[in-house]
Amino acid sequence: MSLDLKAISNTPFSIPDYHRNISMVVPSAFKCLDQDLGRRSLFDLPQAKRVLEANECKGAETAVVILVDTLGFTKLQEVSKWLFPIVKSHGFQLSSTCPTITSTCLMSAHTGLTPCEHGIVGHKIYIPEYDNIIDFLKMSPIDFETRDSLMRSGINFRKLSWNPSLYDLMNRDLVAHVGLIHHRILGTGLSNLLVDPKIRNDIGYANMIDLFAKAKKIIKNKTNKKIQQPKMLLNIYIGYLDELSHLYGPNSQEYLAGFHYFEIRLREFVKTLEKNGLSEKTTLFLFSDHGQVPIERILAFTKNDIEQLSKYLSFRPGRSGRAIHFYIKSEFLDEAKNFLSNFIGDKGVVYNFSDVIDFLGCPASNNHNIKRLQERFGDLIIFLKTGYHLELPKPTKKKKMDWIDRLMSPTVKFGSHGSLTLDELVVPCLASNVSKIAQKI
Ligand SMILES: [Zn+2]
Repeated sequence: MSLDLKAISNTPFSIPDYHRNISMVVPSAFKCLDQDLGRRSLFDLPQAKRVLEANECKGAETAVVILVDTLGFTKLQEVSKWLFPIVKSHGFQLSSTCPTITSTCLMSAHTGLTPCEHGIVGHKIYIPEYDNIIDFLKMSPIDFETRDSLMRSGINFRKLSWNPSLYDLMNRDLVAHVGLIHHRILGTGLSNLLVDPKIRNDIGYANMIDLFAKAKKIIKNKTNKKIQQPKMLLNIYIGYLDELSHLYGPNSQEYLAGFHYFEIRLREFVKTLEKNGLSEKTTLFLFSDHGQVPIERILAFTKNDIEQLSKYLSFRPGRSGRAIHFYIKSEFLDEAKNFLSNFIGDKGVVYNFSDVIDFLGCPASNNHNIKRLQERFGDLIIFLKTGYHLELPKPTKKKKMDWIDRLMSPTVKFGSHGSLTLDELVVPCLASNVSKIAQKI
């Protein structure tokens, strides 16, 4: 069941499909646990519904939802020995969001909504309430060294998302919700927007072995009635493939090794659940938020460019990886567009906000949202073609780095995402009762 995304004419880009989207996976997992949270799910699509029914997804006690950060569909086909054939027979392709950036994708995945509906339309975007660019992964203003400063700001930061998440809507008497997250990011960042920190049940893991051992233990506790609610949703977030892809590139040996390690651990996990009699009561959803493309060339503004550009800007630019947000003084909109189009040439496309509203999944009737959406998303947006990354000027001079800092520098990247190529947009989704997958081992 392949995805047919609408190509944007004269560009290498496609428009995300919000009718077959990563935002529909978690609402489907809740439906498998007999909770309809009123958000679009894969059960609304005849083709996907047939797959879910054939794989006996409904009726489980536990739904395990694994989100693997950075695993495009084509990449999976290229690198996988075991998982890809299972996705072919027990899953389908889904579309990511615009931009194809973790903060926006995770918000869509855990609210069941489009970027237009939840409002977190990028990674580092302008937020009028703070009059600053907010980094939504760090949950801090852009130049802050510390994470999570929004939580201490006194403003109700959870209102930055325009609608409640699935975990705000769920019935906690009927379903237990547990998150398994790497201990380095446990309790920090975007998760505070998604689940009320006061009622969150997240558990930290150290590595893949620890992760799947803990997952097994949690499922066993559920089956042995040590968890009081009749059903359980177990969310697992795996971030290290995204890190490897940024650091070494999606085509690197390092990414390949990282993927194989995950694949082997996942296969062992399925085997263990089967051996312990836990597979029939467990449904597994596995999907990704986006893919990545290799970075071959880094573009940068010259000093003259920056001088010229700053005349047009109402605020410094925001960034969602390979999508750049520009906030422009209205009288300079046409001049700024000409300037940016000349600068970027054939390496990307500059869009007016009005050209890209559709990319964000706005419902036709929701006109009053458009102005506040533009305030965040920007007046002009550059999407880069495959292979390119655009460096933005930093307002403060960084201190001289020693060799360790240079080696670890996050600005040196060999893979990235955020734009609208098919490698970034099309991701796999596996949905099946675990006992059905265990037959494939
Ligand atoms: Zn991501």
